[in-house]
Amino acid sequence: PTSMTDRVVTPGRAEDDAQYEAGLRPRAIDDYIGQDTIRQNLEVSIAAARGRHEALDHVLLYGPPGLGKTTLAYVIGNEMGVSVRATAGPVIEKAGDLAAMLTNLQAHEVLFIDEIHRMAPVIEEILYPGMEDYELDIMIGSGPGARSVKVPLQKFTLIGATTRAGLLSAPLRARFGITHRLDFYEEQDITEIVRRSARILGVELDGDAAGELSRRSRGTPRIANRLLRRVRDYAEVRADGRVTLAVAQSALTLLEVDDHGFDEVDRRLLRTIIDKFGGGPVGVNTIAAA
Ligand code: ADP
Repeated sequence: PTSMTDRVVTPGRAEDDAQYEAGLRPRAIDDYIGQDTIRQNLEVSIAAARGRHEALDHVLLYGPPGLGKTTLAYVIGNEMGVSVRATAGPVIEKAGDLAAMLTNLQAHEVLFIDEIHRMAPVIEEILYPGMEDYELDIMIGSGPGARSVKVPLQKFTLIGATTRAGLLSAPLRARFGITHRLDFYEEQDITEIVRRSARILGVELDGDAAGELSRRSRGTPRIANRLLRRVRDYAEVRADGRVTLAVAQSALTLLEVDDHGFDEVDRRLLRTIIDKFGGGPVGVNTIAAA
């Protein structure tokens, strides 16, 4: 499965996530929980683009991992009624690969590039005329006989996702008409996400257990869904399958996920900063060496 329509699994995604996330990923904008301002803004942009029968303007989504950038890209495609082709910055090796993806896009389709800040500069430059004028500048041959040919593209929407907006080059950033920063979720939104996921997975989850999972998820839907799956395992093996508050708490204790959602590695990291470096500030290289 190497076709570019396949979901690209990036290094940040654990394999079990990739396997399960597809089913838990909301597809309609109404099922996308939280991030109210972004949702409302996108609803307006999408309705306007649809009303004018145009492609949606290019969208840049940034924010920490696991907050729903990829999900939002697919929601946008779904609401625009078009397919989404997905790739990721680090997997585009040659300029020709990107050119092939761009020329294959149908009118108004979405090209989703995850980790767009990790695209090589020579490849990034292909995008500039693509995004701005919907055309590609392709060089044919080399030396004195070389000439550039312009290849027209369909009007498409590029959706870029990045955890590091600061690493994006200024010319690339400037070509996105719509930019949204995703923030960590409110506890009640995560609770709703956990309940929704439990429904989809067929897990019986008590209200206070949902709250407990949510509190320990650090405002991140991906973490919440992961904890839910681990707690479900525990409930099936050590209890009667139903996730009560007590079951959730025992499972999370066994997983060594504390009240703040920190696991053993997180705690060691924090303890190092506190004990060895007087509470910081300290650089990541120094921490790594410690
Ligand atoms: P990112 O691309 O930002 O790393 P994803 O879009 O892959 O994050 O989201 C991770 C998981 O969290 C998804 O599988 C999805 O199930 C869940 N998720 C994210 N945002 C939401 C949301 N707003 N509502 C419901 N579930 C969400």
